[in-house]
Amino acid sequence: MAGRIAFASLGCAKALVDSEQLIARLRALGYQLVSRYEEADLAIVNTCGFINPAIEESLSEIGLALEKTPRVVATGCLGARPEVIQNAHPGVLAVTGPARFDAVLEAVTQALPPDTDPKTALVPPRVRLTPRHYAYLKIAEGCDNRCSFCIIPKLRGPQVSRPPQEVLREARDLVETGTRELIVIAQDTLAYGRERGERGGLLWLLDELSGLGVWVRLLYVYPYPEVEALVERMAEGRLLPYLDVPLQHASPRILRAMRRPGDAERYLERIRAWRRSVPDLTIRSVFIVGFPGETEGDFDLLLDFLKEAELDRVGAFTYSEVEGAAANALPGRVPEEVKEERYHRLMQLQAEISARRMQRWVGKEIPVIVDERGEGGAWIARGPGDAPGVDGVVFLEGEDLKPGERYLARVTRADTYDLFARVLRPLPWATPMGPK
Ligand code: SF4
Repeated sequence: MAGRIAFASLGCAKALVDSEQLIARLRALGYQLVSRYEEADLAIVNTCGFINPAIEESLSEIGLALEKTPRVVATGCLGARPEVIQNAHPGVLAVTGPARFDAVLEAVTQALPPDTDPKTALVPPRVRLTPRHYAYLKIAEGCDNRCSFCIIPKLRGPQVSRPPQEVLREARDLVETGTRELIVIAQDTLAYGRERGERGGLLWLLDELSGLGVWVRLLYVYPYPEVEALVERMAEGRLLPYLDVPLQHASPRILRAMRRPGDAERYLERIRAWRRSVPDLTIRSVFIVGFPGETEGDFDLLLDFLKEAELDRVGAFTYSEVEGAAANALPGRVPEEVKEERYHRLMQLQAEISARRMQRWVGKEIPVIVDERGEGGAWIARGPGDAPGVDGVVFLEGEDLKPGERYLARVTRADTYDLFARVLRPLPWATPMGPK
């Protein structure tokens, strides 16, 4: 029997898919996956290197693994800057960059001989770290944008889109093995196929995916004009009416410094048009506060935008310098206490907006997918407006419900982020996606 490996996966859904693929390869070589570092002969930490708190979390996870496991391999986004890991933890066995599966396997097999020859091992496409009924479907790797605060293009390289037939094959396999919600991800999903000069590749792919008869949710949509075509598909019930569109700011001055398009007025016009086409659309976005040069006036502009836009789901980060990011050279550093104060003002405002927006669901019938039975016996489900892990949930009253099944439910009440609903009836998987 090959050795026992503990695996920690940090960061975003894209890193989770890397972890799934890596674990599949380790299993194919005969390694046993264990859940505790103490039980492992070797630990792998898939790190995140996006912002400073994520870097700190990654370094502390590596430290924890080193305390309890004799050998530790670090991989993932922070692994693209090996000196950061090696300086903090000189005892790590090896450090590799994101999605460098072969380098990880080389380090692991050298330290712990496998049961099977890595050259001949039959590798299953992936192992799932999510519940069986939903899965992330990564359609591209890397990014061709150059947002000044971000080093992902440096870490993961330029965009490389997967061939559509390969993505489709994976999606069909997932659906055949019980997946009922496909969550399409990439660094910039809407740019899928663009580096190959393809136009409309994503729409073709999404149409094929929606033809599989399951929920299709799209994350990380850059605010290109092509969003309109996605919204049309949502109006037709082919995609979940859920738009995850990171806008990052609303002040044109700050957006230019971030090297991103748009401004408050243009975003507002587009949001109004999207909502006209899909009245039950849930819009999610994220914003950075305290970006270099952000004045009180820029921040007020952002708050005014949020009041006007009434976005459904909002995440925010205080700006933190990431080594290697172009924004580090910008003048006008915002003091930490000002960043924090702005962050809290923004989140307080958004909590009020969210609580108001959630009330619009009360009394409505919505489709939900059941995730699990929570502590205390309540069923936890999600509606079209809830992506797993980042949004709220629907607490469901009902008998004999099953995870992965879909039901029509009537919303009885709402709080700031979550809904409470009563099941009306099961919904077969061939019925349309949106709320009634
Ligand atoms: S779109 Fe911008 S923020 Fe997103 S990964 Fe690409 S460069 Fe980074």
